[in-house]
Amino acid sequence: MSNQEINPPQPSAQSPEDPSLVQIEPLSKAAGGIPSIVATAKTVWSEMGVSRGVRTLLKLNQKDGFDCPGCAWPEPDGERSHAEFCENGAKHVADEATTKRLTPEFFREWSVADLSLKSDYWLGKQGRITHPMVLREGASHYEEISWDDAFTLVATELNSLNDPDEAVFYTSGRTSNEAAFLYQLFVRQFGTNNLPDCSNMCHESSGSALGETIGVGKGTVTLEDFNLATAIFVIGQNPGTNHPRMLSALEQAKKNGCVLVHINPLPEVGMTQFKHPQDVLGLLRAGTALADLFLQVRINGDVALLQGISKAVLAMEEKGALPVLDHKFIAGYTDGFDEFTAGLKGAEWDELVEQSGISKEQIEETAGIFMESERTIFCWAMGLTQHKNAVANIQEIVNLMLLRGQIGKPGAGLCPVRGHSNVQGDRTMGIWERPTDAFLDKLGNEFRFSPPRRHGYDTVRAIQAMHAGFAHVFFGMGGNFLSATPDTNYTAESLRQCRLTAQVSTKLNRAHLITGKQALILPCLGRTEIDIQLAGPQFVTTENSMAVVQASRGSLRPASEHLLSESAIVARLATATLAERSDVNWLELIADYDRIRDHIARVVPGFDDYNARVRRPGGFCLPSAPRERIFNTPGGRAMFTVHALPRHDLKPDQFLMMTIRSHDQFNTSIYGLDDRYRGIYNGRRVVFLNEDDMLEAGLQAGQLVDLFSHFEGEQRVARRFTVVPYSIPRRSAATYFPETNVLVPVRSVADKSNTPVSKSVVISIRPSVNVTKDLDSKEGDTPN
Ligand code: SF4
Repeated sequence: MSNQEINPPQPSAQSPEDPSLVQIEPLSKAAGGIPSIVATAKTVWSEMGVSRGVRTLLKLNQKDGFDCPGCAWPEPDGERSHAEFCENGAKHVADEATTKRLTPEFFREWSVADLSLKSDYWLGKQGRITHPMVLREGASHYEEISWDDAFTLVATELNSLNDPDEAVFYTSGRTSNEAAFLYQLFVRQFGTNNLPDCSNMCHESSGSALGETIGVGKGTVTLEDFNLATAIFVIGQNPGTNHPRMLSALEQAKKNGCVLVHINPLPEVGMTQFKHPQDVLGLLRAGTALADLFLQVRINGDVALLQGISKAVLAMEEKGALPVLDHKFIAGYTDGFDEFTAGLKGAEWDELVEQSGISKEQIEETAGIFMESERTIFCWAMGLTQHKNAVANIQEIVNLMLLRGQIGKPGAGLCPVRGHSNVQGDRTMGIWERPTDAFLDKLGNEFRFSPPRRHGYDTVRAIQAMHAGFAHVFFGMGGNFLSATPDTNYTAESLRQCRLTAQVSTKLNRAHLITGKQALILPCLGRTEIDIQLAGPQFVTTENSMAVVQASRGSLRPASEHLLSESAIVARLATATLAERSDVNWLELIADYDRIRDHIARVVPGFDDYNARVRRPGGFCLPSAPRERIFNTPGGRAMFTVHALPRHDLKPDQFLMMTIRSHDQFNTSIYGLDDRYRGIYNGRRVVFLNEDDMLEAGLQAGQLVDLFSHFEGEQRVARRFTVVPYSIPRRSAATYFPETNVLVPVRSVADKSNTPVSKSVVISIRPSVNVTKDLDSKEGDTPN
């Protein structure tokens, strides 16, 4: 087939899948255990082979090894076991270190349109990309390109823009500190702050909420605090699937006598029963029951619930029976207490109960646990951060914790649990569309240039800018931008409008198939691989969810001799694009990553003596002012805040839908079609519904339905989902990400953080009609 076909068929933006193959089985009784060991072994052996697999896993999360490319959960400071990883971390590593290769020959055989008819799962299973590839304008197939020509192509497109703000430079959370620092330097020397990242779609709300109230947008606990805590609340989070080794920390806390409370619309097996896969005797027993109390809150009922707990705490204080509030802390370190308590007095119990879906008795029981706990930790994830009122959700946690002075003392604090291994580090390195002047001043001084001051596009605004024709070049440092973002059809249109889309990647994904007029795939080294530069083998560094910065050294031979490290890609791109406009010697910097770290040490606070400190086994912890009870807010004190209850006026046939992840996926990477813990096998196009709602709507288990979302008079559709009866609050629905991103309107965003509202989407459900069109048909954009 010719590479120069005129008008090749439009590739599909959605992963095709036959929903009739889905099997619904009983739920797992426990997380971890023997099934987890079997699943780990099966994946690792089949992708990597036995000996290579074992050798690699023994280096995973070790002090002399490499950092898991999966989630950002930290490793213990002291002794580490030989198997310091979970099933999902092992699957992630197997996915990256697979022996399968995706060569130019593959791209000669498969047109982009044909590839788009394959599922995301199939695309990911084809192996590591071995060569830089280009999709030329009008071509149907990718073809090989040299690195020099690839960099020249990007540089030519960038330099032909009328304004540097017409380019978008996205970052995914896998990128190392060194690559991220160089990347933001290049982008700012090019002249823009258009640096959207995956954080915009997940914990941006945590950053906004905590920045306003405690002066820094990060958590305040370390792993050691989990050993000291007397109560841990896990809210809007499913650690068993998304941060599995957190279960070991919770199990240990439980053994220490800590009380665990889980708050979530779905009961998750990871929080009910856990069998540590490394506890050989434990495998034969029933496992550890984790949560002492489970509150099945309604979707987006968290503000009501948290206000209810605070109200019950204040009521107990008023009774005077127990010393409940930490008055010394409130008087010494906070502002806004009177306004907060006045607001709570006006909150009606009936409304709090109705909105949260939790009875007053259960709210008071929860408040009792909170009041009796000397040292409390609150953990959360995207169940809180992806609502219109996401910032309010998190600030209500801060309110509650401030009441009892639970910030800035050992064993207590706030713990936003991050989803991607270096998402927090990338932000620390300056990957942010709204950099502070202080950061830009230091960057400008260090590299003798004037960084742009105008704020750039975050992820949602970048999509809108490309759609409106304000941005013409998209460069993605890792990730799968198309599938990770909301409003899949709209985002696809945005990418198609670009003159060039270029992605730094290890594996094939759908973002390589929905492209601008020209597209590039720039294959890079993975975390597992040796990175050799002029000065010899290099290591990179990352920052985990608890602000520990550590070294990561790959040990495998690279998947291909044609791969470059992410830092090398940035350096060569910067050289090609900026030429004499930059007096940075980019190639000298990447010859020895110590040189990059020396610059970081002078620009980024907390990184003094970086090269020496990061070489200590286990790395070092960044300073945290709130841990010392220093709150760098404008008033120098932690802030109580007041929030209205969110409202959802659902019509009789409408549901509130949230997107969730299966156990066989990590973000947009799909490792398998099962969700063992929830009893779903062989498919992902499912919708979990309450059985009473199904009865009322006349829906049967296993029936195929179409989902319609409703936002400001617009209707979007996702077709052919299998109905699954599940324990979920009335009028609620849950579906897998990214399959239902097509239903999340790009303009439906959280206040202040601009994070897409993926956890409260208003939908209606109708029996599936027999359609032959795409799953993501254009109907998705038609008005109601
Ligand atoms: S808990 Fe997270 S960081 Fe740890 S091994 Fe699992 S996926 Fe990797």
